[in-house]
Amino acid sequence: MEKKELLYEGKAKKVFTTEDPDALIVSYKDDATAFDGQKKGTIVGKGAINNRMTNHVFKLLEAEGVPTHLIEELNDRETVVKKVEIVPLEVIIRNFSAGSFAKKMGMEEGIELKQPTLEFSYKNDDLHDPFINSYYALALGLATQEEIDAISRYAFKVNEVMRNYFAGLGIELIDFKIEFGRFHGQIILADEVSPDTCRLWDKETHEKLDKDRFRRDLGNVEDAYQEVFRRLGIQ
Ligand code: ADP
Ligand code: UDP
Repeated sequence: MEKKELLYEGKAKKVFTTEDPDALIVSYKDDATAFDGQKKGTIVGKGAINNRMTNHVFKLLEAEGVPTHLIEELNDRETVVKKVEIVPLEVIIRNFSAGSFAKKMGMEEGIELKQPTLEFSYKNDDLHDPFINSYYALALGLATQEEIDAISRYAFKVNEVMRNYFAGLGIELIDFKIEFGRFHGQIILADEVSPDTCRLWDKETHEKLDKDRFRRDLGNVEDAYQEVFRRLGIQ
């Protein structure tokens, strides 16, 4: 499969059309942004790691009954995916306090929650992705109740599978963001799962192995991405 036209260039990926109207090619970049695009930089090797990690995790999820957009990895940075209509919701699951949640709730980071939480942000750059609930999503016509139910069910399943899997690699899954899309009427998991979109802490040392190293200028950013990739054991 070959790239035809650039359909969209985002902050972390380029998306190309193909000869198949139902398929796209995503190309992962080394560009990194944070704080609504105000902070910009490069994380050398990130594109390949995020591409290969996403595909590895999506295969595990497929095996556990979560449908995903994955069709075929083309090379280090590029993957053929099902072309979906993205549901404009960022779905965030949290197992431990961190980031904006810790700030809002007046908690330290790294406190285990009594149960995982799910929240939605409205995926809208002009509005800076505001926090919304399912009633807002219904009222704004962003998704139907059936879609919200499927998304919530899949999101908790993704959490269960990933949390167990990362635990086996000595990594605590603190929180993450995922996106879903519509493909011929069905809700499927799209976009990516990577150190850009997950908070991953070493279970023993609590060292951050994710994009917070870039956001917070903690140093060793490339090393952290490489370390996660190394633990995945992908050949
Ligand atoms: P952003 O748009 O936030 O800058 P990216 O740089 O990651 O993010 O761009 C990738 C874009 O492609 C995102 O807007 C994402 O929602 C979208 N996308 C991801 N998977 C698919 C898919 N299977 N079909 C269509 N669009 C997708
Ligand atoms: N996240 C993301 N994209 C976003 C916002 C958040 O991938 O646009 C991820 C982030 O990496 C973290 C989780 O979602 O794993 C929760 O992020 P939070 O709401 O705490 O926001 P932040 O502190 O990153 O602003």
